[in-house]
Parts: sequence; C-alpha cells; structure tokens
Amino acid sequence: MKILTPNKVDSFFQLLTQKWDVRLPIVLTDGTRVISSLGDGSIALHGGAVSSKPTAAFFPQHSSVFISVNGLIQEQTTPGLPIFVLGFTDRDLECLRFIDRFFANGLRDDIYFTLRSNAVVAGISGYCGVNGALLQPSSGNCDLEFFWDGCRWLIIPYSGAGNEIVADLPDSAPPEAIEAFKKASTALPDENEKILRQASELLRADRVPDSFWSEIGDRCISCTGCNLACPTCTCFGVQDWRSSKTIERSRMWDSCQLDGFMREASGHNPLGTEALRTRRRIHHKLAADPEKWGDISCFLCGRCDKACPTGIGILAVAKELVARFA
Ligand code: SF4
Ligand code: SF4
Repeated sequence: MKILTPNKVDSFFQLLTQKWDVRLPIVLTDGTRVISSLGDGSIALHGGAVSSKPTAAFFPQHSSVFISVNGLIQEQTTPGLPIFVLGFTDRDLECLRFIDRFFANGLRDDIYFTLRSNAVVAGISGYCGVNGALLQPSSGNCDLEFFWDGCRWLIIPYSGAGNEIVADLPDSAPPEAIEAFKKASTALPDENEKILRQASELLRADRVPDSFWSEIGDRCISCTGCNLACPTCTCFGVQDWRSSKTIERSRMWDSCQLDGFMREASGHNPLGTEALRTRRRIHHKLAADPEKWGDISCFLCGRCDKACPTGIGILAVAKELVARFA
C-alpha cells in the first residue's frame, strides 16, 4: 500500500503526464466537477462521484468513425498517449465492467477499444464523498485505487500497470490507515439494490400496467439528462459532416427519451410517446439487459436521479413501482 500526501498530489499527476494522457476529477470555472484533463481546471478529488458520465473517457460524446478526403478514406489516427483515468467510484467500476462486455460482444467496437485497451483505470474511495462521506472501496476491479483515510491518499495497486505507476511513492501506510481501509471495505447491505431487484422482477413478470408509464412519462420533459449522465447508456447516432473536399462520419451519444430516437424513415415511430420512451429507458436496464447479459445494467451510481429535473430517475421510478405493484 502506497502513500500520497496532499502536498504531493499536483506534482504526482504532473509527472504522470509524461507517459499518460491523464484524466481526473477537476472543477470547472462554473463549479461543476467532471473527469477531464489536467489544465482544464483545478484538481478536485474530494466531493464524491463526478456528475458527468465517467465512461466518457472511452466512449466520448463525439467520436470520428472515418474521414474521407476527395473520396479516399483516411487512416484513423491513433491516440498519442494511453489514457490514465482516475475518478471511478465502486459503482462506476461496475458500470465500466458492463460496457466493456457490451462493446466486446459480437462485432468488437474498435473505436471504444482503441481508447480502452491500454488504459489504466483508477478507482476512488474513502472519506472523500460529499461532506466527507465514505465512498465504498471497490472490489479490486481496477488497476489501482485511491483511498482517502482523512489525512492522506492510500494507493492500492491491483495490476502490473498500477504497480508501475506508483512504484516511486513511499510505502509507509501507518497501521491505523490500513485498518481504516479494511474497515471501509466491509460491504454494507444496500437497500436500494433490493428495490432495484424487486422492480426488475415486477417488470419481467409483466405486472406493471401501461397506465403507470403514462403517469411517469407525463413527467418527462425530454431534457436527456438521465441518458447523458448514465455510465451504462451506450446508444449513439451516426452523422456525416460535409465540406467541399471532406466528409467526416462521426457518432454521437443519443437519448432514448427523444422523439426521434427510434423514428423510422417511413415516419412510423415505435416509441412515439413519452410513456413508451420512459418505459423503454427503465425496462431496458431492469428487464431486457438482465435477460441478455444476466445483469441489471444499472449499478446505482445515482447520476440519473440527481440529473432528472422532474424526479423520475431510475431509483425514484423503481421505488414508486415497488410501492404500488409489489
Ligand atoms: S443510477 Fe441511473 S445513471 Fe447510474 S447506472 Fe443506474 S440508470 Fe445509469
Ligand atoms: S432527466 Fe428526467 S426529464 Fe430529462 S429526459 Fe431523463 S427522465 Fe426525462
């Protein structure tokens, strides 16, 4: 277990930029905490899960698929340095595990794995949540983990790359710090997970009437905040951008809460109402994905419940659903 003291944080990450494209929680000028590059704002490791989608490091909002110049497809440029990304909570790491499987399934997604394959992912945990609340340590499903014990960062490497990155840091965690990490690692039962599972069972047993989705859908204003923040939302649209000599084909995040999400060229729209779109958003995570992947694809990161201005994030809907139909 390594130690990083607060006065060494800036220089540690600065040094990493020699070999890595470093991304970590920073605070923007408007006060928003996001995972971004050093230089986009001040380092802000404390404050809990960042509000933006952490998996955007590997699935950015906009990616180039190819560029054609005078009718000839250009080779895709590879990224300069491999990505080092810090800021995944234990929930976010579960989300990353899920989308790694998603993008590897069937036709492996080259655009995703160009960024993901050589990346180092660092979890964040300890008493660095909102107002010093405990963020649960991960189950070790990352390359290394930064755990704030109240005085210093304890760094626990789990992979060869993780070990290499912290090799030069001192190895002098005091016994009480190690004890704090062990104690925090004892997982507590999560009532919300139980609610999500119950909601999933109700949906899969088809025990939720359409009228429920009309009520919930009426509260959606199609702002797309839920999808754009969700680390397991992977839908995208494709668009060609033209100039006189070049065409760039790119892909951009899409949102299943938008009217045009499934609208077909004929004009027919299988998700033509907010009720149907809202049902689909929840049903996909809690019923369709468990059938396809064996996993509910919501890991309770909390972002959609925080982002939704009308209070219909997934946990809020699951609670309502269980209260009324269980
Ligand atoms: S809590 Fe919401 S944003 Fe987070 S994984 Fe679940 S559905 Fe996605
Ligand atoms: S955040 Fe809420 S209001 Fe906005 S699109 Fe999602 S469900 Fe609808």
